[in-house]
Amino acid sequence: MARLGEPELAAVLAHEAAHARRGDPLRLALASFVADLFFAVPLVARWRRSSVRRFELRADEAAARATSRGAVAGALLALDGEPSSVPEVTAARVSWLLGDQCREQRPPVRELGLSALGVVALAVSLLCVAEALLLFAGGHSPL
Ligand SMILES: [Zn+2]
Repeated sequence: MARLGEPELAAVLAHEAAHARRGDPLRLALASFVADLFFAVPLVARWRRSSVRRFELRADEAAARATSRGAVAGALLALDGEPSSVPEVTAARVSWLLGDQCREQRPPVRELGLSALGVVALAVSLLCVAEALLLFAGGHSPL
């Protein structure tokens, strides 16, 4: 708060109020849970990062409507380098403030391939766990 002027503080509060109205903390917790659950699938991590970026841009839009783009930009500048700031997200927010359209980049083929391998690895792991549980319970192996 000491680094923010009155307009920037109003922008930060409007930004955070927008997050609260939209339920973004819960959405982010769910996205993080899913990303952690499917840690072996890079496309899921990409989806989570994209979600964070989308949440931040929407909150910035709301803050700019409530205050001004200049106040949002000033707050971003004042808070740049904070431990909670993600450089990729901050870059997207600055691009938006400059009027650029923030388009999602298509995932590289390598990421698609690694994701397919990750899905197979998770499926095999789940089958192994299921078989072990069935064997431990005295049932028959499904495989
Ligand atoms: Zn935010």
